[in-house]
Amino acid sequence: MTNCFILLAAGKGKRFKSNNPKQFTNYINKPLFMHSVNKALKSKLFKSIIIVSNKPIKNIRNKSIKVITGGNERYQSSHKALDFIKNKKFKNVFIHDAARPNFSLKLLKKLNFNLKKNKAVVPYLTTDNSTKYRIKNKIQNLNREYLLFTQTPQCFDFKTLYNLSKSNNIKITDDVSLFLNNNKKVKFVKGEQENFKITTKDDLKKINIKNFYGIGFDIHKLTKNKKLYLGGLKIPFHSGLQGHSDGDVILHAIIDGLLGAMRKKDIGSLYPSNKMKFKNIRSPNMLSPILKNLDKEGYFINNIDVNLICERPKVSKFREKIITSLSNLLNINKDQINLKGKTVEKLGLIGKEQAIACEAIVSLNRYA
Ligand code: ZN
Repeated sequence: MTNCFILLAAGKGKRFKSNNPKQFTNYINKPLFMHSVNKALKSKLFKSIIIVSNKPIKNIRNKSIKVITGGNERYQSSHKALDFIKNKKFKNVFIHDAARPNFSLKLLKKLNFNLKKNKAVVPYLTTDNSTKYRIKNKIQNLNREYLLFTQTPQCFDFKTLYNLSKSNNIKITDDVSLFLNNNKKVKFVKGEQENFKITTKDDLKKINIKNFYGIGFDIHKLTKNKKLYLGGLKIPFHSGLQGHSDGDVILHAIIDGLLGAMRKKDIGSLYPSNKMKFKNIRSPNMLSPILKNLDKEGYFINNIDVNLICERPKVSKFREKIITSLSNLLNINKDQINLKGKTVEKLGLIGKEQAIACEAIVSLNRYA
């Protein structure tokens, strides 16, 4: 695998009208540029990902990702990135604008496939609009069948592109322009309507998102000589929750909520209590395959609301810690989680501190 993915995220985005450049704005639960990074990682097509940014990017832990500073213009940022990798022996390079977060993995694969027999492969769209062009004050008809609208990712044989880029000093708006300006052959493949460029704030609303909801409920008996786990966190208490697993009612209710929203039955179908291999399983380990599946099917967690029903421990004392633990386990922000405590006026088993119950509601998003 000798492909490199260059993500251009150094633009100022004047038409976006915000102090925070558009590529860093929050878009479907993460910074806009991260959608492209995640897809590049997920495709497993790239040995290295270079993010070109004029704003520092923290919290990137993946070793295959490097962040470098860009130039004033797009073509300068692009050249800086090519220069940065010149000795790294990449055969091919993909260059993508961070302002297009909605391309598909299928498109990446199609580009990669076509690169075997070509030195430049570029996605394009046509238009159904009637088209005109204006020179000074004169407007004339233009045959729309002549028009190609090019998108990114665009991919190239590294050496050819790097040499063209070195000798270029005119402003160009995409990298394939270098090939065309030098009469070099380009393979054009069909692009995607959804892969539109985010230029203004209104563009953020363009994508069609579907919502899904799921509820979960769980209750476990309290028993002496067991540790108490709530939301993946160990909590000092006189008893722990009895069960086939660690009895973490919060995680079990959330798991059922997630399964409900994904329409995948319930926790008991996935982890039958008569199966010995699940005996004493820790609840975070029950959660992780579900999260993998969620990601695979293209869902994002929007928010989670939890009612923990018990006389003690007092939720207010552990709320922050439990939310932190849940945010780490679920890989979402703390402000996407709410935890409420509910006592039962000392009534019944829960009132006598012999059981703890929990209910959760989960909301998921997915591109329609
Ligand atoms: Zn349970």
